[in-house]
Amino acid sequence: MNYDLVLRSRRAVLPDGTRPAAVAVRGSTIAAVADYGEPLDAASDVDLGDLALLPGLVDTHVHVNEPGRTEWEGFATATRAAAAGGVTTICDMPLNSLPPTVSGAALADKRAAAAGKCWVDVAFWGGAVPGNQDALRPLHQAGVIGFKCFLIDSGVPEFPPLDPAGLRSVLGELTAVDALLIVHAEDAAEVKVASGRDYGSFLASRPPVAERRAIEKVIGAAAATGARVHIVHLSAAECVAMIAGAKAAGIRLTAETCPHYLYFAAEQVPDGATEFKCCPPIRDAVNREALWRGLEAGVIDCVVSDHSPCPPELKAFGSGDFGDAWGGIASLQLGLSAVWTVARRRGRTLDDVVRWMAAAPARLAGLPAKGALAVGYDADLAAFDPDEAYTVEPARLLHRHQVTPYAGRTLTGRVRQTWLRGTALLDPDRGAPDGEPVGRLLNRG
Ligand SMILES: [Zn+2]
Repeated sequence: MNYDLVLRSRRAVLPDGTRPAAVAVRGSTIAAVADYGEPLDAASDVDLGDLALLPGLVDTHVHVNEPGRTEWEGFATATRAAAAGGVTTICDMPLNSLPPTVSGAALADKRAAAAGKCWVDVAFWGGAVPGNQDALRPLHQAGVIGFKCFLIDSGVPEFPPLDPAGLRSVLGELTAVDALLIVHAEDAAEVKVASGRDYGSFLASRPPVAERRAIEKVIGAAAATGARVHIVHLSAAECVAMIAGAKAAGIRLTAETCPHYLYFAAEQVPDGATEFKCCPPIRDAVNREALWRGLEAGVIDCVVSDHSPCPPELKAFGSGDFGDAWGGIASLQLGLSAVWTVARRRGRTLDDVVRWMAAAPARLAGLPAKGALAVGYDADLAAFDPDEAYTVEPARLLHRHQVTPYAGRTLTGRVRQTWLRGTALLDPDRGAPDGEPVGRLLNRG
């Protein structure tokens, strides 16, 4: 046999567009991309017909929380949900686990906690916090894909924010090894304490200007140091013009937004509905439209989940108080459907979605074998029915907790199978991973 697996689809989403094709896998990689009907000598030959064949998604913004807060989300549960959602690589954030990933020893703890439990591949971000500058280069050499910092309270005391001098100092250090810094960009001076059930008050407590002031600082520091910087979870669309300007000026800046900012609008959030709480917040429908335009114009590079679950009791459902509730939305399993539901209505294509959710995040994370349906890439694939609608039932979610603002929403586009390095992951009847976990722990590059 020449190949181990051939997958044929009339809608294969290739780097140069969507067309009928046969993707041939040998071992763990894509060995050939041929015409749809071409005879190929393979151990297994599957015709997906009109199901789209996508590269597996790369989600560069996932809070797994293990070790230390595994009751919030762990590697086994997060990667099962990822597989069900067509995501074949996740990049774990350095905070909310204990210890946070701010030293070589903490990275070793993370890897030990993840080993043998992952259904998809996992890469790791390091953390940049006050006082750990000496740990940045060793972490970089140990294979982290870059570093995350906050410019505002992160919500957990063990991961404090950098001040402006600290930001410049870290960027100076990272520039020497050309490492990437990703930034939670809200300015504490523009954020007020929120309390109560009123969503409007919570929204007003974290206004767009808080993002704008912080992004200005990031751009200034990047300009001064020549460093590579990335804005995570952009919510305030008024910052799109500033980001476009910085990019045009040659500053090495990229940005992401998240499915919940592209799908929901503040007008839909009932008072007391803390399942919608995230920081920065979900803003109004005009803002959402402007975010979409920033994405469609290529100013916003990536769409990634910011999957950040917590136990339901931390969501303060009893009081519905937005001040007391933990901020974070879990969407690893739903991100592709949520984004596609709106994207197709806007006349966008699966090529766009794959660019935003696979190719660009893989490039951001420095994972050259991921994010494209092309020869030499890992055979990470998803069969996706772009026309099937379904209603989100929390009981079917494989996240550690089923709390979700998507409950009861009808989404369009369903993942039917996911392959990791040529291995099919899902039991087709249940849509859930089967067998043994085959995910690997990845280093940058
Ligand atoms: Zn996050």
